[in-house]
Amino acid sequence: MAERCNQPIALHLDHGESVEQVKNALKWGYTSVMFDGSRLPYDQNVAITKQCAELAKVAGASIEGEIGHVAMGDETALTEPDEAEAFAAATGVDALAISIGTAHGYYKSEPKLDIERCRAIAERLPNVPLVLHGGSGTPLDEVRKAIENGIVKINVATEFQDTFLKSVNKNLVALDGKFMPIDKFMDPVVDDCAAHIARLIRFFAGR
Ligand SMILES: [Zn+2]
Repeated sequence: MAERCNQPIALHLDHGESVEQVKNALKWGYTSVMFDGSRLPYDQNVAITKQCAELAKVAGASIEGEIGHVAMGDETALTEPDEAEAFAAATGVDALAISIGTAHGYYKSEPKLDIERCRAIAERLPNVPLVLHGGSGTPLDEVRKAIENGIVKINVATEFQDTFLKSVNKNLVALDGKFMPIDKFMDPVVDDCAAHIARLIRFFAGR
């Protein structure tokens, strides 16, 4: 699909769980991979991320790591600036996911981001792009502050999937039991998803 597209495509493995997964993604043409060792002991996270970084480098792809832990239905561990600096130096990652108060999935109450922590990490790592996971449902003024303090990539999955499901439902209800070929059915769903992401991209870019 990437080859057929007339736009430049970045294909990213998010939250890679093993060297094997990263290896496969690189073999299949991913341009960017993440190894997420954020739940592992520090030394193990460093060792495996470093190994993945070396593989990515050989394949000409970029590599993202994570230090601290952005909750995935478990506990958040905020990123320590000292540890982030040491982790980036020890692994050679091209981008670093940090934990400053967001979480994956839906929020039960509005998250409050630790912007001071974000700034402190960015000051230690001026040459390493910082990544914010758990972008879905984060108030946009908080996201704006994070961008102003060093975040350059924002991961949004949950609210995008939510847009997809709601659009499928809306169009299905409108169809009222009549048949429609699936490709034709999907056209307005794809338009809704594209519009959602376009709005976010414009906001992130400050336009
Ligand atoms: Zn994530």
